[in-house]
Amino acid sequence: MLNIQTNRSLSELSTFGIGGDAHFFAEISTISEAEEAYAWARKQELPVLVIGKGSNCLFRDEPFHGLALLNKIDFCTFEERKVFVGSGYSFSLLGVQTAKRGLSGLEFASGIPATVGGAVFMNAGANGKETYQTLSSVLYLFETGEKREFAKEELSYGYRTTSFQSMKGCILSATFNLGLNDEARKKQLEIIQYRMKTQPLKDKSAGCIFRNPSPDLSAGALIERCGLKDFSVGDAKVSNIHANFLINSNRASAKEMIELIERVQRQVFEKTNIHLEPEIRILP
Ligand SMILES: Cc1cc2nc3c(=O)[nH]c(=O)nc-3n(C[C@H](O)[C@H](O)[C@H](O)COP(=O)(O)OP(=O)(O)OC[C@H]3O[C@@H](n4cnc5c(N)ncnc54)[C@H](O)[C@@H]3O)c2cc1C
Repeated sequence: MLNIQTNRSLSELSTFGIGGDAHFFAEISTISEAEEAYAWARKQELPVLVIGKGSNCLFRDEPFHGLALLNKIDFCTFEERKVFVGSGYSFSLLGVQTAKRGLSGLEFASGIPATVGGAVFMNAGANGKETYQTLSSVLYLFETGEKREFAKEELSYGYRTTSFQSMKGCILSATFNLGLNDEARKKQLEIIQYRMKTQPLKDKSAGCIFRNPSPDLSAGALIERCGLKDFSVGDAKVSNIHANFLINSNRASAKEMIELIERVQRQVFEKTNIHLEPEIRILP
């Protein structure tokens, strides 16, 4: 049964720990609760904001006059090399569980603090792999209430871009078709160890802020070359562990974080003539 609450701070729903209040808030644990939530929002004529783990979102400081939905649709069933998973399921856990079964293709997901829905929305990736390589289909709820199953072939996607970024609605579930590899678990453990060594996982961040300008030029290396590690605006700071991670070092506001993003973009452009595109979503 859907429970709609009022005035929930979005900062608690984001790994950045930044954001104003959402006027209305609900957790959805099933597909029918998602449908119920959208029907309620349609009736009230309110916009809906779907949140997974909030690990790629910078929520603005101003209140959001709409319904924020926290996605907890978290079933997961295996059938040989196929996995059918709710969009609120932990993407990192999926990476571990598939690897433990000797299933290959999602080892890279281990350590990405996302939901499956967020990973499908973003085409999350790491270590040269990405979500759409093994994705086979997606069940989607349009804000109009229509539900539709998309085969991967019907979707367009690229580096951190997908069809869903220009659609209005909620990814409900996904099916992945995986390979077999006895070394999958070993590979997954190596990935998580490397991640722990190279990323500031104890800090409040949204992972990489900028897209890499090209496959062989990382945004982090560029920012570092421009001498911007530790550069800050208020409590918003460039990490000194990984320069493409901007962190909330105490009580940064969205305004400070946006100013830091713009200043980094400006300085990198002045020194290298390269314009860095944000990967994170500044919402709502
Ligand atoms: C420490 C750290 C490490 C990271 N490492 C990586 C990495 O290696 N690779 C990588 O690609 N990313 C990485 N990220 C970024 C982030 O985890 C990914 O972008 C991830 O895909 C976001 O998933 P989420 O569930 O948190 O989505 P959210 O941040 O909650 O949402 C992101 C966007 O997706 C939309 N959305 C979320 N769920 C749904 C849904 N069910 N239906 C419709 N829209 C939806 C939201 O509205 C929003 O626009 C990292 C982040 C952190 C904090």
